[in-house]
Amino acid sequence: MDGSRSYVFRIFLLFFSIMLAVSLLLQTILYSITGRILREQMGNKCLGIAISVATLLEQNTDSFRDYLHTLDTNSAYYINIKANLEKILSGNAENIAFLYVEQRVSQNDMMYVLDGDPEDSPGYSKPGSIEPITTNRRIAYDSKAPYVGKFVTTVWGHLLSAYAPVVDQKTGELLALVGADISFQQYQNVMQNQIYVIIGNTVIFILLAAVLFLLSSSTIERRLFTDSLTGVYNRSFFYNFLRIQLKAIKKKDYPVMVFMADVDHFKKINDTYGHPFGDKVLANISGIMNSYMRKTDCLARYGGEEFAAIMPGLSPKRAGEVVKRIHKAVGNTITSDEKDGISAQVTISIGAVQLDKSANIENAIKHADIALYDAKKTRNAIVFYDASMN
Ligand code: GH3
Ligand code: MG
Ligand code: MG
Repeated sequence: MDGSRSYVFRIFLLFFSIMLAVSLLLQTILYSITGRILREQMGNKCLGIAISVATLLEQNTDSFRDYLHTLDTNSAYYINIKANLEKILSGNAENIAFLYVEQRVSQNDMMYVLDGDPEDSPGYSKPGSIEPITTNRRIAYDSKAPYVGKFVTTVWGHLLSAYAPVVDQKTGELLALVGADISFQQYQNVMQNQIYVIIGNTVIFILLAAVLFLLSSSTIERRLFTDSLTGVYNRSFFYNFLRIQLKAIKKKDYPVMVFMADVDHFKKINDTYGHPFGDKVLANISGIMNSYMRKTDCLARYGGEEFAAIMPGLSPKRAGEVVKRIHKAVGNTITSDEKDGISAQVTISIGAVQLDKSANIENAIKHADIALYDAKKTRNAIVFYDASMN
């Protein structure tokens, strides 16, 4: 059974790893899509705020023009607009990190003209301070249209900026740009929850898979390795078990007996009593054979009316006795069907071989087969393989 459990576990592990990889891949894709949507949403929010400030400035273009000429921070116009910007920025602290108005002063430079940060804050840009024009800004200045850029690293940190043009409605002249930025940190704070969801999903997935495995492993094991008609192991389990034993005896020498059993004249049973009754005979005699085996042995249906068995750890003499007992017990077993009033008795022929360190799968089966072939000459017989039979 140990062999089959570790086999089922290996299959499960493979299946589980694939599922986990697929699940993580899908969640990563989902994470990146969510990120893109969130960036778009946050950028649009910034842009909405920038546009509303630009509209405010466009309502009184003449005063704004005057202010741009003087940058007089004592003027009533400045004091009023500055108060408005501060209010908008502090009221939208969750959505934006910076809010400012700037003007292009040369091909490569721009100048801050208004800033929503209080004058004593570290993010404050004094009217008149100059900075180089970044690529995002250049696009906004050149297109004179609202524009949302991508996250870029600036002297103010890692930011995503939205720009709204302030245009003189009469002349169409671009007077300034209103900029509204979100910081990467703000974006990350929201995305952090998404990471918790992914971790949570993965933990739930692993726990569910583990519970599912524990609940279903014995069922899977039975389905994979049991012959449905007789309830004994199937051929694939037999090979698995044999492989494990062959590996083990190479490390630690101990006796292992393998035998093949074939029902004699079984075709006659089918022909005489019908196939369903033949099935019943097979199930019955395999039950009898199995009752002589220990938990650590393996009895398998090798195919049709042939069985194969492995008995590790018994001395050749003891194993020989078990084989003889099995042979005798099957021969004495009567299978009957009371409903149809029929009963039958079958005998088996057995070919057995004792494995040693030099054995491999091919010769183990071949030698048991040679012995069985020999037994079949008389039928209802047991033949133990020896090297002279080759
Ligand atoms: P021998 O003594 O030479 O082994 O004769 P035999 O009739 O047992 O051997 P043969 O190979 O000629 O026939 C095997 C028969 O076993 C034929 C097939 O119909 C029957 N058989 C194989 N599998 C099943 C099964 O699952 N159920 C039933 N009822 N019969 C089966
Ligand atoms: Mg046969
Ligand atoms: Mg047969």
